[in-house]
Amino acid sequence: MFDTHMHTSPFSTDAGMKLPELLKRKQETGLGIVLTEHMDYDFPPPLVYEFCTDDYFKTYSPYQNETFLLGIEIGLQGAVCKKNSALIRSCPFDMVIGSIHAVCGKDLYEKTYFEDFPDKKSAYSAYLETMYRCIREFDDFDTLGHMDYICRKAPYEDPLLHYDEFREEIDRILKLLAVKEKSLEINTRLFGQKEAVRELAVICRRFVELGGRTVTIGSDAHHTAAIGSSLKPAYDLAFQCGAEPMVYKKRRPCPAV
Ligand SMILES: [Zn+2]
Ligand SMILES: [Zn+2]
Repeated sequence: MFDTHMHTSPFSTDAGMKLPELLKRKQETGLGIVLTEHMDYDFPPPLVYEFCTDDYFKTYSPYQNETFLLGIEIGLQGAVCKKNSALIRSCPFDMVIGSIHAVCGKDLYEKTYFEDFPDKKSAYSAYLETMYRCIREFDDFDTLGHMDYICRKAPYEDPLLHYDEFREEIDRILKLLAVKEKSLEINTRLFGQKEAVRELAVICRRFVELGGRTVTIGSDAHHTAAIGSSLKPAYDLAFQCGAEPMVYKKRRPCPAV
């Protein structure tokens, strides 16, 4: 079983996990892993999420094998679409997660993003609209990362991304992913919340109804203990929804279990 989303130090700015502890944890769990370091060009200052891909491949290539894969999590923002494509095409990544972490020049982990909108409906709609536009313009990715990312720091009483509240916006994203034969990521970060898991299941099932076939499953671990977190229930959820969990090796989809 693969955990297809995690971050290490020093390549991902916000990660604490280093190679020796990662290797130890990998051995203990018996999991296949994909490293997916942050590359978010033009991220709102002061934070910088960029790394040197030469150093990355130099450091980790000696460990690369069938169950230790080298990917990237590329930050989607309309203005950096071409730069993202150039990078992805110039490096031998196994897997590319396309993710939205910033919208309208604001970090979605900061309250100021939400302060620009009168309510949850408009804040989430702008996020989903950006997501749609980005994946319409950009093709060089394998899976759409954490569609529910905006929930993590949203200041609302009920921050969850409910399919019923954003039916149209979510449907057009899922349809586009299906047409482009991309995967949808089931990110296990919110698996501690039953309601969040239920919403993810609704979205995953809808993805399959709209022609989607494949998902990727990842913990988004930034420290060692989180590797493999809630993977089993996420794989079960995928199968129950009729989706096939995949991992990408040299950008080709392969069954992840
Ligand atoms: Zn992310
Ligand atoms: Zn991540």
